[in-house]
Amino acid sequence: MHRRGAKYRAGSVIVALVAVLTLLLPGSALAASNKTRITVFLHGFNGRNCTQDWRELMLDMRDSGFTGPFYVVKFLSNDAQCDLGGISNASNVSLFDYGAHSGPYGHSGTNHDNNTDIRHLSWHFAHWLRSSIPDDPPVDVIAHSMGGLIVRYALGKQSGDWPALNVEDAVTLGTPHAGVNFASWTQTVQGDQMEPGSFFIGWLAQNAPNPQGNNGTQWTVIGSSGDVVVPRVTATNMQAAERVRYGLLPWPITHGGYMHEDGIRGASRWTGTQYESTDTFGPMRMIRVAAQSDSW
Ligand SMILES: [Zn+2]
Repeated sequence: MHRRGAKYRAGSVIVALVAVLTLLLPGSALAASNKTRITVFLHGFNGRNCTQDWRELMLDMRDSGFTGPFYVVKFLSNDAQCDLGGISNASNVSLFDYGAHSGPYGHSGTNHDNNTDIRHLSWHFAHWLRSSIPDDPPVDVIAHSMGGLIVRYALGKQSGDWPALNVEDAVTLGTPHAGVNFASWTQTVQGDQMEPGSFFIGWLAQNAPNPQGNNGTQWTVIGSSGDVVVPRVTATNMQAAERVRYGLLPWPITHGGYMHEDGIRGASRWTGTQYESTDTFGPMRMIRVAAQSDSW
C-alpha cells in the first residue's frame, strides 16, 4: 500500500512535469507542425567551417522528423569546410553565383571576405532566394551571429532592385542586433558595421525593427549570458515576437554553442511586455520549435 502510494505520487510528479514542459513550449501542441519547408543555414563572421557550425543541428532536426531540403549557405571565399556527407537532402549553396558583385555595396573581383559589406552579402542572399528556389515557397532561415544581420537587412529592403522574400520563420543565434562594442577591433569593414553606433546598425533600428517577408515572418531571437562575444542584451534587441535569453545554468552557452546545446535550461522569455524567468529547453530544441510551427 505504502509502496503503491509512493509510486502513484512519483507518477503524478512526472505527469505534472511533462504538462509544465509542454506549456513551456508554446504552440508546439496546437500550431500546425511544418517540418517539410526548406531550411536555410547562415553562418557568422568567421565562416570557414559550416560543418562544425551546422552538422549536429541538421542531424538533430532530421532525427526529429524535419524532411524538407537543407541549404547551407557559403558567402565568404574561405567557406571551405562544408561537408554535408551523411545528411540527407542537404546542399551547399554559394551566394557568389546570385546577384552581381557590382550590385549594391559591391566590389571588384569575385571574392568575399570580412571586408565585404554586410549589405552586399544580403544582396547576394536575397537574389539567391528569389532566383533559385522555384515557385517561391516559404523558407525558414536559421542564422548565427552576423548571419542574422544578413537576413534581417534583406528583409528590410525588398523594394526596387531588392526582391521580395517569402521567409516564414527567421531564427537568430547570438546575432548583434543592436551592434556589439569593440567589433571594430577586428579592423574589418564588417566589424565597423557591427559597432553599435554604425550607420548600418542605425539603419536596421530605424527601418527594420521587425521586417516581414511577403507572407509575414515570425522572428525568434536567442541570446545567452554565457556568450561573451555577443552579449544577450544585443542578441535579443529586436522587436521579434519571440525573444529568449539563456542564463548561466546549468552551464554557460557560449557564442559558438547555440547549435550544440540541448536539455533543460534556465532562461527568460519575452512575454510581450517584459522578460520572465522560466525553465525551458536548450537552444537546439528552441530552434526546432521555432522552425516547425507556423506560430508559437
Ligand atoms: Zn559580391
